Amino acid sequence: MVSIDKHNFNSKKVIVRVDFNVPLKKNNKILDNTRIIKSKETIQKILNDGGSCILMSHLGRPKKKEEKFSFKIILPQIEQVLKLKIIFIKNFNEEESLEKIRKIKSGEVALLENLRFHSQEQAGDEGFAKKLASLADCYVNDAFGTSHRPHASTTVIAKFFPNNKFSGYLLDQEVNAISKVLRSGKKPVLAIIGGAKVSSKITVINSILQRADDVIIGGGMAFTFIKALGGKIGNSIFEKEFLDEAKLILTNAKLKGVKIHLPIDVVCSLEFRNDSKRRVFEINKIPETWQGLDSGPKTSKAFHDVIMKSKTILWNGPVGVFEMENFSKGTISLGESIVSSTANGAFSLVGGGDSVAAAKKFNLSDSLSYVSTGGGAMLESLEGKQLPGIKALS
Ligand code: AMP
Repeated sequence: MVSIDKHNFNSKKVIVRVDFNVPLKKNNKILDNTRIIKSKETIQKILNDGGSCILMSHLGRPKKKEEKFSFKIILPQIEQVLKLKIIFIKNFNEEESLEKIRKIKSGEVALLENLRFHSQEQAGDEGFAKKLASLADCYVNDAFGTSHRPHASTTVIAKFFPNNKFSGYLLDQEVNAISKVLRSGKKPVLAIIGGAKVSSKITVINSILQRADDVIIGGGMAFTFIKALGGKIGNSIFEKEFLDEAKLILTNAKLKGVKIHLPIDVVCSLEFRNDSKRRVFEINKIPETWQGLDSGPKTSKAFHDVIMKSKTILWNGPVGVFEMENFSKGTISLGESIVSSTANGAFSLVGGGDSVAAAKKFNLSDSLSYVSTGGGAMLESLEGKQLPGIKALS
């Protein structure tokens, strides 16, 4: 994979796959513009070199052309974030649009309409990818968040630029952050895996066992492990069909010398409601009618100690129902411990689950080493898979 950093784009037309798939409010205002902000460095580099950019992305999940998913609606907001004037390309299959693209000059930026208005995008259609490729001299992929999809603009298009395909700065940063966690980061390496279900994280846990010295298992998924160990978990969530898998993970970890840290105590509730009655119980002695919804104080202290001695930290998934204020303390405390360890010199990567939302909600993002922009793509990378979009650049 060759980074954009290694090339000069003077007088070149560059087609850049960005990830402008941003969440929108009902009034079409962008809820979180992180992904647009993160594309800035790559666009600026091409323009500074004396090149021009043709940006392309998808937005939402339209099945066909639907006005509410048009980039035209959020174009002024994108221009504001990037501080650039952008030429909007309505349909690159039409002559009028092609003419606009032909006329683009060095230093100018264009944005193609939502790629998912064409069914060929998700189908990974070769003819469609070739047509996109014909618009430019070089291809840059900076859309880490969709690089786990073998779509026309993220993967197939690369073959039409055998010597002129590059990774953008955001993609480089994401790949480097993953590489630190899975390969090159300093030891001890700690993985914190939380969230609701074991089933959605099983492959990540198994993959991380090859590399980590310590693994914290928290949140709803911890109950499957506690139950597998014979503990009483009351009315807490667990996955019956994963009890054996949980036991296997514990055995494998032992064989590999990886220390697994499970919660010690847990804040329980009678109902899945913020204002329901709360009580702290030991994690394996929860009475019948109570359900565990957050890490308890002893757990937070124990997790803090492991976090502080670690030099590379992956945080994937909250350790409680952080969306409800009364059950958010454990996740906040865990996040703050990671911030302290980062300030002490540890490398911390947050990604691949709701922990990114939690880090943002509790204003921790700026104090962590790296917060991923790619949910599913980060999760698949942590599972040890090579993403098609990244492979296509190699
Ligand atoms: P994930 O997307 O896998 O990271 O899972 C995140 C979700 O797990 C969040 O919506 C949390 O509210 C939920 N969660 C965390 N701990 C618990 C718990 N003890 N019981 C139920 N849900 C939980």
